[in-house]
Amino acid sequence: MAGAENWNDAAILAVRPPKNRVDPRRPYAYLVEPECSASGVIEDVATIFLTNRECPFRCLMCDLWKNTTDERVPVGAIPEQIDFALAELPPAKHVKLYNSGNFFDRQAIPREDYEAIANRVASFETVIVENHPRLCGDDCLRFRDLLAGKLEIALGLETIHPEVLPRLNKQMTVEDFQRAVRFLTENEIATRAFILLRPPFLNEAEGVEWALRSIEFAFDVGVQCCSVIPTRDGNGAMEQLHGDGAFTPPTFRSLETVLAEGLAMCRGRVFVDLWDAERFFDCQRCGTARRDRLQRMNLTQKVLPMVSCTCEATG
Ligand code: SF4
Ligand SMILES: [Zn+2]
Repeated sequence: MAGAENWNDAAILAVRPPKNRVDPRRPYAYLVEPECSASGVIEDVATIFLTNRECPFRCLMCDLWKNTTDERVPVGAIPEQIDFALAELPPAKHVKLYNSGNFFDRQAIPREDYEAIANRVASFETVIVENHPRLCGDDCLRFRDLLAGKLEIALGLETIHPEVLPRLNKQMTVEDFQRAVRFLTENEIATRAFILLRPPFLNEAEGVEWALRSIEFAFDVGVQCCSVIPTRDGNGAMEQLHGDGAFTPPTFRSLETVLAEGLAMCRGRVFVDLWDAERFFDCQRCGTARRDRLQRMNLTQKVLPMVSCTCEATG
């Protein structure tokens, strides 16, 4: 396996580029987009990217720290950010409150704000937050009880590859993940899993194989929805791994394969993350059409005919 050395917190921090400047009173982004809901209907989902304190974990591939503060944001700042975004956004049925880390990290989202946050999102049918599997405990239940709608928690599984997962420095085992899903399911909290396509240390074929194995594992332990993220560079460490030959981003074709095979499992919803998908295009003639096909597959949860192009002969 390429890239022999292990990356710890200090090594990962040492190669980071600077953070972006953020305002603790404003979300750093917000948008509404359609998604296939748990009931199989396409519905609008608002996503609010909350500005808050950086996640205490230092995952090797993570660049979410870029839009975070160094200090805990004051009580009241998160509800204010939600007010700001909701005033700007068109209506939606569901809301994602994504905080570049873990919603139930008390240094990120102050517990004192839970009630005010729940009141702000009372009109949404589902409230989706992201959280580390090892931070799933009583605070999740407290927040669930404050919500008018259903709570769903997105958990980073990343990969179940036994050698790669420890090397991602996520401080989590597959047993931690399984325990978290069981706890949340028993407490009527829905779950989705983030899965990396081709994390470092894997070749293209292994990247596809382990993404599919990870999706299967997530469904086996009770997750209802899997979101596949093509592994990107952009955080310093990943560029270095790229230079050392230990990381290569996945091809667009692999993204197509994983979505098609993930949907064919018929175990639950499977999405691929198409944010900045252009960077994975390997053919400029068919790239846009192929991205649009995956977008329609995300929305319909059906495998659609492949886009044909002359590049297939060489791809
Ligand atoms: S737990 Fe999530 S937000 Fe925190 S470093 Fe890892 S990937 Fe990034
Ligand atoms: Zn092509």
